[in-house]
Amino acid sequence: MSWSIKIARVAGIEVRLHLTFLLFLAWIGFSYYRLGGAPAATQGVAFMLALFGCVLLHEFGHALAARGFGIRTPDITLLPIGGVARLERMPDKPWQELVVAIAGPLVNVVIAAVLIFALGQHSEWEHLERLNQPGIAMLAKLASVNIGLVLFNLIPAFPMDGGRVLRALLALALPYSRATQIAARVGQTLAFVFGLVGLFTNPMLIFIAFFIFLAAQQEAVLARMKDFSLSEPVSEAMVTHPIRLPPDARLADAVEALLHASQHEFPVVDDAGRVLGVLTQDDIISALKRHRPGAPVTEFMRRDLPVVSTHEPFGEAFRSLRSASGRPAWRSSWEEA
Ligand SMILES: [Zn+2]
Repeated sequence: MSWSIKIARVAGIEVRLHLTFLLFLAWIGFSYYRLGGAPAATQGVAFMLALFGCVLLHEFGHALAARGFGIRTPDITLLPIGGVARLERMPDKPWQELVVAIAGPLVNVVIAAVLIFALGQHSEWEHLERLNQPGIAMLAKLASVNIGLVLFNLIPAFPMDGGRVLRALLALALPYSRATQIAARVGQTLAFVFGLVGLFTNPMLIFIAFFIFLAAQQEAVLARMKDFSLSEPVSEAMVTHPIRLPPDARLADAVEALLHASQHEFPVVDDAGRVLGVLTQDDIISALKRHRPGAPVTEFMRRDLPVVSTHEPFGEAFRSLRSASGRPAWRSSWEEA
């Protein structure tokens, strides 16, 4: 079962509500109802919806900025703790990451500015017309909450946008993994300070600090992996002595190989060492339904495979293998093994 429901599709991006968000709204409604009856409940829920509308626009800020760099965002999910835009990948260039990271908080700056401007206009009319006061109060509250969102998101610690902004700024001058390391350390130091302050004031801060500390650690690991994939060649990540099948091998031989090896892909190689094709585990299993055990493997092996060189960066090879018609990313050029 999926824990979120689709509520809309905007600009090709699915907007989803996490079920806990609905529970959260119900809880808000109920708490306000106990305080001031139905009008208070309606007002409380309306304010929450407006607030999360702003959060949603913030996430669209990230998503549309990413789209400018050709990165898709399949969906945005609203949770009680905020919104999550699931970007297909992160931008490669630091300045692009900077733009994507800052686009979200920038949306809240614009919303706050528009609201403050509108409220300023209103104060001049106030003595002329009697507009409904609770509505005005709600707009003022919404403006200050948007300013709060900007400040909170710009705390320079992962997973907040500020952490990404800091990393991107550092990465303009430093290697990506070094920039991440420094940004992660800044985040962890902040987490430590939050934790310390939390001990004496609000225990909730300790929880947030713990969360920030873990996120910083995770980001540092991811950056090291990304660095590896950019700097290390294919030869560092490939299987060098795979079990091969000769061109005259039968389906039964392939099944035998599959049962006795930890390998999931088998190159079919001729006497001269040329790769004729590759059999994957799925190919072998689906061939069992359609062919007899005596059928030659050349009948159902894959031939249209991209070939990568052993000195190509691992990350690039991985990407070209993945983009080749969604085939599984099997490893590298067998000829050179
Ligand atoms: Zn954001």
